[in-house]
Amino acid sequence: MAPLLNGAALLLALGFRRNRAVLVLAVLTLAGLALAGAGSTRGADAARMFAPWLLLAAAALPERGFMARRNLALLLGLAVAVWLTWSASDSLWPGLRAWLPFGVLPWRAGSVAAALTFAAALVCLLRWVLGGVPMEAGLGIVLGLAGFAMLPGMGIDSTSRALALAGASALLAVLYASYRMAFVDALSGLPNRRALDETLARLTGDYAVAMVDVDHFKQFNDTHGHAAGDLVLQAVARELRRERRARAFRYGGEEFCLLFTGARSREAVRMCDQTRRNVEAMRVRIRSAPAKARGGQATRSRQDAEVNVTVSIGVAMRDAQTRVVSDVLKAADQTLYQAKQRGRNRVVAR
Ligand code: GH3
Ligand code: MG
Ligand code: MG
Repeated sequence: MAPLLNGAALLLALGFRRNRAVLVLAVLTLAGLALAGAGSTRGADAARMFAPWLLLAAAALPERGFMARRNLALLLGLAVAVWLTWSASDSLWPGLRAWLPFGVLPWRAGSVAAALTFAAALVCLLRWVLGGVPMEAGLGIVLGLAGFAMLPGMGIDSTSRALALAGASALLAVLYASYRMAFVDALSGLPNRRALDETLARLTGDYAVAMVDVDHFKQFNDTHGHAAGDLVLQAVARELRRERRARAFRYGGEEFCLLFTGARSREAVRMCDQTRRNVEAMRVRIRSAPAKARGGQATRSRQDAEVNVTVSIGVAMRDAQTRVVSDVLKAADQTLYQAKQRGRNRVVAR
């Protein structure tokens, strides 16, 4: 069961290009196979001897393309470990155990293996805390369970069960990561346009759609740089998310969408105007770094600055003339266009 679950998670991770997860799962799948192929204790010994080091290395690697040199070096290490486990002569094996520093005393091999695997889990959890990538938390849990599997005193059955649980967790983690890739916008953390389309397709009853577009944003990017623009988009997204009575989406580029359902749709204009004022009052700390100073001369040095932006909002409600989702979206686009025409930083409703 353990190799099956870890192998399935490995294939999924490969499909979604989660390369560190692929390496971790390759090690866990082979460790599971080594345990399943018991009979002699060599498989279990090998799993405890080699897997923790490889797991720790995989956890510490940067997330790169699969053919990156470090990834290939780790795969080579894995191949050598497999060769040593399956093909090394019986005379070599005890010699190897005595010679390798991690297979023998002063600690029992299990304690060393568990400690190293828990350390690998800690590395991933730390990366999750620092970077906020959910897959790291998933890998942390998977490696934590693998650490339990390595603990001394665990019989082969308990070890296999813990490894199977690690595989099941890895499957869930990769599925969750792929769900986020499909439906959540990476920059703002808001649900993306695909999520909006799916939500709208399922809606029944009254609803209102508000298209929110940052004013003169191209000029903002030209003045302060693209990185500062990204910070502002994140700040606008946070502000939109604060509006609990609507669901916020990133529609694309510097355009967002607020969706009001049921009775709230009748209050959409008032709530949108509140949101517009909140964005106007917002101050974002940035490091201004324009692409080029005037006339293409040398770049101006970076400066800390507090900036603000405004948004224009176009609101449209589902009604007798706009029964179809695409019509409501089109109407919201038209009212947004009017808001821009009338001078921006305003809400126009149809
Ligand atoms: P308007 O007031 O009429 O909306 O003018 P605008 O400049 O905001 O509109 P326009 O559509 O001409 O430009 C949108 C700009 O948004 C251009 C593009 O560089 C910027 N943009 C789109 N997506 C991103 C992003 O993810 N990050 C950053 N920094 N800029 C983005
Ligand atoms: Mg736009
Ligand atoms: Mg704009």
